Amino acid sequence: PSFEDFALNRQLLNAIADAGYTQPTPIQLKSIPLILQNHDVLGIAQTGTGKTAAYVLPLLMKVKYAQGNAPRAIILAPTRELAIQINDAIGELAKYTDLRHTAIYGGLGPKTQIERLKNGIDILVATPGRFMDLYLTGEIVTKEIKTMILDEADKMMDMGFMHQIRSILEIIPRKRQNLLFSATFPDKVERLSAEFLEAPVRVEV
Ligand code: AMP
Repeated sequence: PSFEDFALNRQLLNAIADAGYTQPTPIQLKSIPLILQNHDVLGIAQTGTGKTAAYVLPLLMKVKYAQGNAPRAIILAPTRELAIQINDAIGELAKYTDLRHTAIYGGLGPKTQIERLKNGIDILVATPGRFMDLYLTGEIVTKEIKTMILDEADKMMDMGFMHQIRSILEIIPRKRQNLLFSATFPDKVERLSAEFLEAPVRVEV
């Protein structure tokens, strides 16, 4: 199997080659076509399996070009470290595109994050608390969001983010594609999937 077999564009294939990825990992092989076909996907995969690129690559095909000011995709992560890591992975894979992306998280003042949002963002990576804070102060426009991704959903449930995730689901458009990735699949994540995903296809590695 090769990355050339997916419907990815040249900009992405060149970035993949620069990153040194020679072939897709199992989670990438299974998820990328499903995400490109607009399915909601429930991915059960641990860190280290290539799960970030499994959703970032098809997402970059969907968002494709910089447009307007408001984010068209959001990725929620449980921790600041993971949010930064996901944003870095986007940077690496989107290097030949004009897409604007950033990570917002707590633990430091919001000033720089607000400035970036004002300049226009296509893909927003966020921890749930900071996302709600900046939404409530009017810094985040949610009406253009068409893809919502939850990463490390099991960790988000363990950290007590269910309530905040529910609030976020209420303020983003109903018609959208949803992706949920989790290393494990306990009852709490199963309940979250049932609320969040529509007719999901489950992929596991
Ligand atoms: P993740 O599971 O998303 O945390 O990714 C683990 C590591 O694997 C990261 O350092 C990625 O850059 C790397 N990686 C992702 N996809 C591939 C691939 N197809 N081939 C080689 N390395 C990869």
